[in-house]
Amino acid sequence: MTTWLASDLHLDPTTPGVAARFRRFLDGPVRGAHALFLLGDLFEAWIGDDDPEPAHREVIAALAATGAAGTRVFVMRGNRDFMIGTRFCAESGATLLDDPSLVTISGERVLLTHGDGLCTDDRAYQRLRALVSDAGLRDAFARLPIEARRRLASEARAGSREHLAAASAYITDVNAAAVARVFAGAGASLMIHGHTHRPGVHRLEAGGAGGTRIVLGAWHDEAEVVRWDDAGWQLLPCPA
Ligand code: MN
Repeated sequence: MTTWLASDLHLDPTTPGVAARFRRFLDGPVRGAHALFLLGDLFEAWIGDDDPEPAHREVIAALAATGAAGTRVFVMRGNRDFMIGTRFCAESGATLLDDPSLVTISGERVLLTHGDGLCTDDRAYQRLRALVSDAGLRDAFARLPIEARRRLASEARAGSREHLAAASAYITDVNAAAVARVFAGAGASLMIHGHTHRPGVHRLEAGGAGGTRIVLGAWHDEAEVVRWDDAGWQLLPCPA
């Protein structure tokens, strides 16, 4: 049984090449797999499940086809697509995962998270994260006309780009104490996340609360994904 994990595709109508690669991934390596986990930022921006954007509709159809072919698809919200909701799940056939989620893959307990919650050194970002996690605020945003939502999303992305350009690399990566805390509370010695766009495998020894942390890649780069079968897991460049 094979399970795939990927994150940070940042699919956007302006980058059709990434969407095409994702479709090749779904129609090739993922076909026949047991499950596919998408750990956040599948979309560069998601202004609501009612967005008629044709590029997004194609992604929903591709996910539905993957599910219909027998692969279970799980989607976690990221910081770019935190407005993904029940209609998206109904149309794509994907199951929405809480962030974080403890799951069992090939008999091993694994903690899955998008990863932005681990970047506690970035205080400005964490204030913004707390704000957009407010359900009332999200409801208010969802009631705005689509054009207004699109404009606000594009302003937010411009603000994010400015912030990332100004912040140091250290600040925008995970905080070691936050990682140790999550391991200690999780009851798992393996964690998989994305968000930082710094793919790699990190082993942490921290007074018994250590573990292995796998970081998935962003798809505008190497698109490192995890392939997990009975022989174990592997972080590798997306084979599509
Ligand atoms: Mn992210």
